Amino acid sequence: MPAHNTAALRDIDRKHHLHPFTNHRRMFEAGARIITAAEGVYVYDSEGKRYLDAMAGLWCVNIGYGRTELAEAAARQMAELPYYNSFFQTAQLPAVELAKSLAEVTPKQYSRAFFGCTGSDANDTIVRLVRHYWHLRGQGKRQIIISRRNAYHGSTMAGASLGGMAAMHAQGGLPLPDITHIAQPYYFGRDADAANNNLTADEFGRKAAHALQEKIEQVGADRVAAFIGEPIQGAGGVIIPPQSYWPAIQKICKQHDILLVVDEVICGFGRTGNWFGSETFDIEGDVMTLAKGMSSGYQPISAVMVADKVARVLDEHDDEFSHGYTYSGHPVACAVALENINILRREKIIETARRDTMPHLLAQLQTLTDHPMVGEVRACGLIGAIELVADKTTRKRYADDMKIGIRCRDACFDNGLVMRAVGDTLVLSPPLIISRDEIDALVDLARRSIDQVYQSI
Ligand code: PMP
Repeated sequence: MPAHNTAALRDIDRKHHLHPFTNHRRMFEAGARIITAAEGVYVYDSEGKRYLDAMAGLWCVNIGYGRTELAEAAARQMAELPYYNSFFQTAQLPAVELAKSLAEVTPKQYSRAFFGCTGSDANDTIVRLVRHYWHLRGQGKRQIIISRRNAYHGSTMAGASLGGMAAMHAQGGLPLPDITHIAQPYYFGRDADAANNNLTADEFGRKAAHALQEKIEQVGADRVAAFIGEPIQGAGGVIIPPQSYWPAIQKICKQHDILLVVDEVICGFGRTGNWFGSETFDIEGDVMTLAKGMSSGYQPISAVMVADKVARVLDEHDDEFSHGYTYSGHPVACAVALENINILRREKIIETARRDTMPHLLAQLQTLTDHPMVGEVRACGLIGAIELVADKTTRKRYADDMKIGIRCRDACFDNGLVMRAVGDTLVLSPPLIISRDEIDALVDLARRSIDQVYQSI
């Protein structure tokens, strides 16, 4: 591994690089962690230190690092046709082939793909698309999109508005008009002092779904365009809804003829043990957001999958959808995504993980529940969470200013493990190719790190 001058790199970085989701004052003090190489489930920093990447980058490197086939697909495409657009009735081979491949692997109602570069811009596309759809159907009053508090749908103006993160809304005057939020189905996080405390998970799930019905009644069904949700809320803390939740949401959307948008940016491409979270939770969506695992993060690419019933309305009108990005269907990104999907299919990576490593991760995580600071562990496929609490029976948290989650996350880093802290919830989402032994190592490192913090308080 080549030697790097870390101090010099950090200095340049401080001077010239504004980072996303970063407290720059704190980063100035500590300097950035500079990642220089990766292989399999491991990443390496500029000091040569190895970390087990239990976050698959940002929930995206599903096939793991170091797949040279993807680099070769990119190089081939760059040599042949590095760029051409898809505007004004034009197409190029990789975009056509990728659209076909996506129609094959996604649930049967989806046959059309609209390409973008990021999950955020795909969700912007969706806001415009669903409103345009209702306009074409002569119901232009249907503008409102209902989402959930603590949801994450991206960082653009529309993405952050769809998301339900208060700290993001506070910056930039969000949400945009006609985007509104209901409660999330977070059973572990239910209020211990309220009536909710005594509900079973399924009762709680139905109650959380009923919030959608109430919101629709409040704003008027004839004004609602769509409901959007992640099958499992990822960035919000890996909130796996009770089994009763999605069927109830689905029913309410059908009753009121509201489009159901499923944001599969994290759950898609195998994360939950099926190709899509929609299959794991039996959700029949009308529009779907794809990104991250679609190229395993090797290229920036996203897609909005559109169900036939929505696409048909666009097809029937002599009207242009005035929307698109220079890089919609970028040939290099499409070629890489196509090769990524081919590898997932050919090597049966999702099916193997479902049979073998996914149950193993859950079983191993469950061994952590004997620790006094672990209030709950949960996992669905290869996405999971560890809830850190001060009192296991009442689910009482530590005081905010103790920053237990961040301290545990930092201890993980020190011990060579990348996990993420969402408040006092540690979340993980390793590459789908992680082995049993690597899962054992992950859980050992997590235990050691949590215990170090526990012993220090
Ligand atoms: N939707 C979900 C569910 C996500 O988790 C994310 C990113 N974490 C996004 C949308 C936004 O994707 P991007 O960061 O590629 O814009």
